[in-house]
Amino acid sequence: MSILVTGGAGYIGSHTVVELLNRDENIVIVDNFVNSKPEVLEKIKKITGKDFKFYEVDILDEKKLNNVFEENDIESVIHFAGLKAVGESVEKPIEYYYNNVTGTLVLLKLMRKYNCKKIVFSSSATVYGDPGTPKYIEEFGRGKTTNPYGSTKSIIEQILEDLYASDNSWNIAILRYFNPIGAHKSGLIGEEPQGIPNNLMPFIMKVANKELDHLNVFGNDYEGTKDGTGARDYLHVVDLAIGHIKALEKLNREKSGVFIYNLGTGTAYTVLEIIETFKRVNNVDVPYKIAPRRSGDLAIYYADPTKAKKELGWVCERGIEEMCRDSWNFIKSDK
Ligand code: NAD
Ligand code: UDP
Repeated sequence: MSILVTGGAGYIGSHTVVELLNRDENIVIVDNFVNSKPEVLEKIKKITGKDFKFYEVDILDEKKLNNVFEENDIESVIHFAGLKAVGESVEKPIEYYYNNVTGTLVLLKLMRKYNCKKIVFSSSATVYGDPGTPKYIEEFGRGKTTNPYGSTKSIIEQILEDLYASDNSWNIAILRYFNPIGAHKSGLIGEEPQGIPNNLMPFIMKVANKELDHLNVFGNDYEGTKDGTGARDYLHVVDLAIGHIKALEKLNREKSGVFIYNLGTGTAYTVLEIIETFKRVNNVDVPYKIAPRRSGDLAIYYADPTKAKKELGWVCERGIEEMCRDSWNFIKSDK
């Protein structure tokens, strides 16, 4: 029996596959490399000393994905495959809805066909919209999303809930990630965004590496944060990967249901705190300028991770210094 990991060559997927292989699970990865590179697969093997099956398949290609189910005894699915750039989703809504929503529908159709009804889905804190308070609790439910990317996550959550309502033998974990950063200790895998990055940590790394000359800090006049810059709940990608293992273990204990969890530390750090920590622990310079606020940004939000702790036994073990160190180690290491 195998676990199918869609998007397993990507940033979070590759770290999760490492953790799964370390636990001797049989893994089948499906990825079309739209936002990752084939070399990652070799790095995963190097880190773990273990092998897995891989298919270069677009999840939108029903025939080829069917083949994956036909050739393997897939017991559960961890579904990472999706496009994730917020700004790009505003420019290309059709591509985002098609890839993320239709791709998920194709996957779910095949899971139903092969009677494989256990799925862990990569959702995001963005589905909360703006609940009007910074500490997000699962009970808040979904709010109004502010971009097509966020809407795809919200729609897929709804689809999964509707699916369970139609057939309560489905066993579904929806994981709402906060802000994953960091990289595997080996320095072999990490986040490799193509072109100019949108997210804070990839941008900091390009500036520290002198590929870009400075970072724009989007606003320093926010209320409710320590220094006026935006604050987020950053978590180490390895902690996040382990969260998926715990979620799968939960599904293996349950008969069926829809289980929703925040995956975050419960603490928010400001942009300036991240810059200062990155500079200090890595002994590098990160020049920055204060710039206008980025449209759609909230001042501060963070997870209430109580439910994941109680029901999954999951807590983040890696702190902000380790996150900054491991991110930089990935960029600097001889891969
Ligand atoms: P990523 O882009 O590194 O990984 C996604 C992987 O999916 C890539 O390898 C890409 O090639 C693949 N993929 C995309 N569309 C595909 C398709 N149609 N068929 C096959 N493969 C396809 O992104 P990530 O940061 O690892 O994110 C993984 C998941 O987690 C995504 O669904 C993302 O939306 C979600 N998420 C990420 C964050 C974050 O900050 N990184 C936060 C919340 C949620
Ligand atoms: N941010 C910034 N400059 C950048 C990128 C991000 O000041 O070049 C800020 C952003 O305004 C937010 C925080 O960093 O307060 C995290 O942004 P990111 O895009 O990484 O995550 P998200 O906004 O999706 O939580």
